[in-house]
Amino acid sequence: MDLGIAGKWALVGGASKGLGWGCARALALEGVNVVMVARGAEVLNKAVDDLRVETGGKVQLIGVAVDITTEAGREAIWNVAGGPGKDYDIVVTNAGGPPPGDFRDWDREAWLKAIDGNMLTPIELIKATVDRMAARGFGRIVNITSSAVKAPIDVLGLSNGARSGLTGFVAGASRSAIAAKGVTINNLLPGKFDTDRIRSTLPAMAQKQGKTVEELRVIQQAQIPAGRYGNPQEFGAICAFLCSQHAAYMTGQNVLADGGSYAGTY
Ligand code: NAP
Repeated sequence: MDLGIAGKWALVGGASKGLGWGCARALALEGVNVVMVARGAEVLNKAVDDLRVETGGKVQLIGVAVDITTEAGREAIWNVAGGPGKDYDIVVTNAGGPPPGDFRDWDREAWLKAIDGNMLTPIELIKATVDRMAARGFGRIVNITSSAVKAPIDVLGLSNGARSGLTGFVAGASRSAIAAKGVTINNLLPGKFDTDRIRSTLPAMAQKQGKTVEELRVIQQAQIPAGRYGNPQEFGAICAFLCSQHAAYMTGQNVLADGGSYAGTY
């Protein structure tokens, strides 16, 4: 299926690895020019170079090594040489998730950091680009959030809270006047995907449960109806579809990609 987005420009946060990388890759393979953001320059530059090879140099790929959750980082993105300024057709908002823990231990600082990274940063990115999209009659925003928005995970209280704030905002903003101007805003909710994020949280969980990491991996995957973790490539393919011409009548939605883990009928 031709997604009808070749030649467009996309901004993808957290794109040097994991789910953001999956989205950047899927879009680039559809002929989209991509500005890829992450803090660590070395991993990011390698991801950009590898994707350049995979796409045969057919699209423009630009790496910007900044912290997207800071104003200075976003300013650098808007001003990057060769980029489209703020005239993106597609924006995939994404950065690292907040740490797990006990809500009794989180102070105001911890909450502000989580809200900044997982609620206010996506809102700032939407604010900066959405009216320009509407003026051109096409725009796609996909926020990578979490299945925890629908089925909260107790140790991820910072994520549950901050991402629910973003979800509420998107529910309203996506249905505002921009909806009639070809702009959609949707949230893509990952369940368990085999990325560095999950690899970094497993050791502590395994220790807490008196199991090895490998034992815990087997148990977790057996609990997923699909019988396995997801991979960034299949996540990216869903993201690319949401960014496509074919998804023009789909906005304000929370799309789960969790191998069937969420057991609700609706
Ligand atoms: P990951 O594999 O750890 O990748 C995170 C990416 O984001 C990396 O490229 C990282 O590079 C970049 N990043 C982190 N903080 C950043 C910042 N402040 N500014 C710019 N780039 C930043 O994580 P992932 O699994 O892809 O997860 C992506 C998001 O989905 C996270 O918010 C995570 O909580 C959420 N999520 C993941 C899962 C899962 O199963 N994987 C499930 C639910 C929700 P640098 O570190 O170099 O910046």
